[in-house]
Amino acid sequence: MEAPLAPGGTIGILGGGQLGRMSAQAARRLGYKVRTFDPSPDACASGVSDLHMTAAWDDLAAVRRFASGCGRITLEFENIPPATVAEAARICPAHPSAEVLAICQNRRREKEFLRAAGIPCAPFEVVESSAALAPAIARMGHPCVLKTAAFGYDGKGQVKLPDASADPAAAWDRLGGQVAVLEGWVPFDLEISVLVARTADGRTAAFDPAENLHRNHILHLSLSPARLAPDLASRARALALRVAERIGLVGLLGVEMFVRGDEILVNELAPRPHNSGHQTLECATTSQFEQHIRAVCGLPLGPTAATSPAAMVNLLGDLWREGREPDWSKVDAVPMATLHLYGKGRAAPGRKMGHVTVLRPLLAEAASAAEALHAELAR
Ligand code: AMP
Repeated sequence: MEAPLAPGGTIGILGGGQLGRMSAQAARRLGYKVRTFDPSPDACASGVSDLHMTAAWDDLAAVRRFASGCGRITLEFENIPPATVAEAARICPAHPSAEVLAICQNRRREKEFLRAAGIPCAPFEVVESSAALAPAIARMGHPCVLKTAAFGYDGKGQVKLPDASADPAAAWDRLGGQVAVLEGWVPFDLEISVLVARTADGRTAAFDPAENLHRNHILHLSLSPARLAPDLASRARALALRVAERIGLVGLLGVEMFVRGDEILVNELAPRPHNSGHQTLECATTSQFEQHIRAVCGLPLGPTAATSPAAMVNLLGDLWREGREPDWSKVDAVPMATLHLYGKGRAAPGRKMGHVTVLRPLLAEAASAAEALHAELAR
């Protein structure tokens, strides 16, 4: 059995985005040294790591050099070639595994895994050619949504087919003629996510479900805890734990779900910290980033109990009008609001630049204070 990596050791993080940056900060607080690996020299996690290596994902010689100074490898980005993780794993333990990553980065494999594991999800069918799409739509019925199997996130690589007037051939062409998954549309009441951690020796912990509200397919607001009946919340946690066990996770997994009535369907899996868990930095006994590091190093998992209701609002590059930094004194004016900036150089529309978490004794008050602050920053 794999020995825990004690503080003082070095953790290598594949990917240098904000999830890597906040994981690196948590790792440092726990006493670890941190290395980051990313194709970009100015990836934002590089500013908080002891050593940043810049190389292409498929530069396996660089991956070996990177891993040979580490006691653990983890990742923060989903579209890393599984072969890169497998190469690192020849040198030191790498979590999550190349196998888990390969499932989660491809909708076809992810859906087929969920179906085989008996995990409820939206009805789907794999579509491999333009000719196969129309009959698949006829079986599924409208509305439905066509999603590319590979490289989809934040609503990218998706076309909704609302009714019979939608042209299947045009939808197929819009997705670039790649293998796709056709999914039945779920008229959900609520979108939620549950973050679950699991160690190599099978210990697990789940956070409370968060409730997620999107704008233009990108997470806008995340509320913690989700406004769910207690039995649904505990079923959602149990479902996420079941997914983690069935997939053989070591590390942290974000399980996105649709809630409709008393039915819970799993939508997507992300084997890394998740945007909807950022508020745990302020509203839970252990943050998702610390839990990520604890799980991959084999330390005792931290308690996940909430310490306050919280609302997290994303700050996208759109707020940087003509490149001007928003007026952060507006955050200071809001009690119990915490600003997180990721240190990214260039603001672009839709780019995640930071977030703000607002705590209040009542969730509705946290949500309205976060929305009001966001509107104020956008003025
Ligand atoms: P995804 O990239 O699969 O997470 O989809 C992005 C967003 O599109 C989800 O968070 C939902 O808001 C919406 N969506 C995706 N698939 C479905 C579906 N089958 N039914 C209803 N909404 C969906």
